[in-house]
Amino acid sequence: MKALSLGMTIGILGGGQLARMLSFAAARLGFRTIIFAPEKDCAASKVVGNHIIAAYTDQLALDHFSRHSDVITYESENVPIESLHYLASQAFIAPHPKALEIAQDRFFEKKFLNEHNLATAPWWGVEDQRTLIAALTACGGDGLLKTRRFGYDGKGQVRVTGQNRNIARRALDRIDHVPAILEGIVDFSKEISMIAARGYMGDIVFFDIPENFHKYGILQRSVVPANLSSKTVRVVQEITRTILQALHYVGVIAVEFFVDSKECVYVNEFAPRVHNSGHWTEAACVVSQFEQHIRAIAGWPLGSPLRHSDCVMQNLIGNDIMEIPRLLEESGTFVHHYGKEELRSGRKMGHVIYLS
Ligand code: AMP
Repeated sequence: MKALSLGMTIGILGGGQLARMLSFAAARLGFRTIIFAPEKDCAASKVVGNHIIAAYTDQLALDHFSRHSDVITYESENVPIESLHYLASQAFIAPHPKALEIAQDRFFEKKFLNEHNLATAPWWGVEDQRTLIAALTACGGDGLLKTRRFGYDGKGQVRVTGQNRNIARRALDRIDHVPAILEGIVDFSKEISMIAARGYMGDIVFFDIPENFHKYGILQRSVVPANLSSKTVRVVQEITRTILQALHYVGVIAVEFFVDSKECVYVNEFAPRVHNSGHWTEAACVVSQFEQHIRAIAGWPLGSPLRHSDCVMQNLIGNDIMEIPRLLEESGTFVHHYGKEELRSGRKMGHVIYLS
């Protein structure tokens, strides 16, 4: 891949707040952006030069998109993998579609992690009532049933306790009997994530590690730095390095972990993209996760991931966004509004970063 020149165009599949923040970073480095997103009024549409509004499966629109993009990346994990493969036959895509193909399916993701000797929660594939009962028996009658695909922010997940036929049927009813996995419960004391970037030459940078706090499966807050021993930090970096190298990855990745009271770490999942738990880098680091991703996929040198301040990133969810005028009056706050027109409860509308 030849490095992009100033003024060239980065194509982004997906038009949410991540695409919006990637577009800001790209513009600041002198690139143009074009997004491909089915929704007309998406968060990124207001800040990009060009927006193709079409279904992800529309081949003519995909052709048009690839003709106008010098490199293509994705922010949405729900882009059909077939569309990505189609684009890959005519354009350069980073990260490689293989990363998304694995991350889109919890079964493939866990299998990939375990094949690389990376510890996860114990897990079993579930296709029907019989396989669910067998899995529940194997994990001692307490587990999390998770749909293989399209689960995010805690959606598509059911806690199952017990192991009889009725319990299994009711749990499967709640996920519409789609293919799933059952995970054993990890008794974690912390949830953390690693945001890292890898360039075309295999160079890797790691950001500091946030501790993440969720409510109803949705990230509420990231506190940086997480209180971890330097040994655990190194373990987390090496796990992330293994994933990046195995995928010949280019761009920013987010790997989420559980840490137990003995500081044993288990990979929960990874996202082949910039991530909500990395938003703090925007205000607390010289080079943010967004700029790092743009640099990586453009073939430019990666920047310093150094953090100059401790900080807390708080998501502004639903009505929280009304707090912005008050937050602006506090010193040391960095406010980010995603420009979404429709305010819905549970919807991520913006975030605030408190620097200290
Ligand atoms: P996920 O969508 O897999 O990231 O899960 C959403 C949230 O559910 C996580 O952030 C955890 O708080 C919780 N969770 C997921 N899997 C497990 C597990 N195996 N054991 C305990 N808690 C879990």
